[in-house]
Amino acid sequence: MSINRIRSNNTPRRRIPGFRKRVVRGCRQRVRGYRPGMESVRAVLIDIDGVLTVSWEPLPGSVEALREIREAGFGVALVTNTTSRTRASIAGTLREAGFAVDAEDILTAPVATAAYLAEHFPGARCVLLNSGDIREDLEGVTLLAPDDTKSVPDVVIVGGAGPEFDYAALNRAFGYLQRGARLVAVHRNLYWRTDAGLQLDSGAFLVGLEQAARAEAEVTGKPSAAFFEAALARLGVGAGEALMVGDDIESDVLAAQRAGITGVLVKTGKYLPETHRDATGTPDHVIESFADLPALLRGSAVQELG
Ligand SMILES: [Mg+2]
Repeated sequence: MSINRIRSNNTPRRRIPGFRKRVVRGCRQRVRGYRPGMESVRAVLIDIDGVLTVSWEPLPGSVEALREIREAGFGVALVTNTTSRTRASIAGTLREAGFAVDAEDILTAPVATAAYLAEHFPGARCVLLNSGDIREDLEGVTLLAPDDTKSVPDVVIVGGAGPEFDYAALNRAFGYLQRGARLVAVHRNLYWRTDAGLQLDSGAFLVGLEQAARAEAEVTGKPSAAFFEAALARLGVGAGEALMVGDDIESDVLAAQRAGITGVLVKTGKYLPETHRDATGTPDHVIESFADLPALLRGSAVQELG
């Protein structure tokens, strides 16, 4: 069962440990001097990879744009499917790059996954297939020891891809699914951009596991509606008061728009003209980069792109 279907059955809103509702000072106030049509926007949800940074290096103008948006009084939440680092590690790296953020500003898909498991599979024994150590953000999740090959877990968690996604690991996951384990995916991104170009991500492997095991992954990060709702709850704003900026037209922008949030696509990071052209919908706004967001909000000279 997908998380979207679970949400549509009036499941109570999940609480994300360490990411509790916190009304950001200034966020509830009307932001003055901003563009007609943007007056209702009080908070900005921002994807990190490909929007603020590529390979954790800041994109031109992004540090200054984030500062300007904060100083204008907008609430800010960084919402990321990143599975290679914890929130604390991400915050530290972004601070070194000049961004004024702390761990509390960040919602990662692994944090949302821990909350999802606590609600839907309390006490479950899990195995994690992921590149990078995210155990700190999987608070309360019982993970079987890597050398325990005899136990059958209740849940197979698929995180972000890397060298760990070899034949042995994928075949082991396939075996667990055949024996009744549930499949929970932190996200289903097909690829991401690094300074070495586009890299294949776990969504590609997930499709194979689903088809082979006749299983359907329950997705906990973007594009699930619950992930966006958790970010809105943290900022204390409604969907109509928020704007989501991302470089993934489907998982960031159109998924946010389906949740009632205004979507803004940037042409940095993983953006490709062909995925834009072939997308399942149309973004509310398209700008060259995050550096143009303050101008878009103000309605001053900014080139909106098709
Ligand atoms: Mg991105």
